[in-house]
Amino acid sequence: MHMPALLAAHQALVDGVLAGDCPAQRRAVAKCITLLESTRADHRPQADALLNQLMPHTGRALRVGLSGVPGVGKSTFIEALGLHLIEQGHRVAVLTIDPSSSLSGGSILGDKTRMERLSMHERAYIRPSPTGGTLGGVADKTREAMLVCEAAGYDIVIVETVGVGQSETAVHGMTDCFCLLQLPNAGDDLQAIKRGVMELADVVAINKADLDPDAATRAQAQITSALRIVGAHGRGHASVPVLQLSALQGTGVATVWNAVSDLIALAQRDGRFEARRRQQRQAWFAGLIHSRLLARFHAHPAVRAHLPALQQDVLDARMAPAAAAGQLLNWFDLSNSPTAGA
Ligand code: GDP
Repeated sequence: MHMPALLAAHQALVDGVLAGDCPAQRRAVAKCITLLESTRADHRPQADALLNQLMPHTGRALRVGLSGVPGVGKSTFIEALGLHLIEQGHRVAVLTIDPSSSLSGGSILGDKTRMERLSMHERAYIRPSPTGGTLGGVADKTREAMLVCEAAGYDIVIVETVGVGQSETAVHGMTDCFCLLQLPNAGDDLQAIKRGVMELADVVAINKADLDPDAATRAQAQITSALRIVGAHGRGHASVPVLQLSALQGTGVATVWNAVSDLIALAQRDGRFEARRRQQRQAWFAGLIHSRLLARFHAHPAVRAHLPALQQDVLDARMAPAAAAGQLLNWFDLSNSPTAGA
């Protein structure tokens, strides 16, 4: 495409995202996110420009994270919550970070039958996890998709992940409130506490309480007391609400949402909300510098040429790691120094 045509297409995409609630807007949002997810280096400048133009329109949505093991009821809950929020006049975007899509190419969260009613609703936008690359890369794409959804006027963004790994830390790092779904029997082994996930939770909901109300009540008590121990080290502010839920029957959905919105309102009043967002932007920025610099380092011709042999020297203890790393960095520095090629 010629330059003027390219600029016109770019502007049309920005205008489309900002167009307000209509089918054309949904297409523009999808197109925009696809561009941001592209791994082609020549797409990145346009993607960056696009995000910069959308930036002033972002930040006004509430960002809610949700995690829990496969089968705990995340999609059932999101569907019920999403429809509840739409009823209250909100527009809801649901994004997912599926670590299995990066690790194996498979997908735990990806099947199409999830959230059928919500996905058909015109005031909801559901986008599956980006695939491929590292977890950090996938999380960055989801953050960017979140900004596009916000610019388009979705005022509640739910970021879902599956409770099997580091992806929970990533979701916690991009949301205002992180909810953890637990099963009634999870209180017995306290898996989430062992994995350190419980420390991330702002709200815990014990789902499937309809199946065994007594077990749910026991789990509620166990998790509440376990959180007190975790909380003593961790957060130093209000205790974490532990609630009972039946996503399938819809009982407790509004209560969980009220807990989330109360926590967010409190954090907005006392300054923690903005502090958390600033800290998240800072961490995102630092992380991007780190990962892009590393990618550039590994793509460098001299680094590519010498790394395997130096690595072997380090593995066989012929060379000190610091000396080998120093040599590689020297090659990298030489061709990147301001006087290089002068
Ligand atoms: P996800 O893998 O975490 O997204 O879990 P799903 O939402 O797909 O739910 C897994 C299964 O649990 C489905 O068969 C749901 O119908 C069922 N389920 C979800 N929530 C509840 C609940 O509150 N009570 C009961 N009895 N079943 C539920």
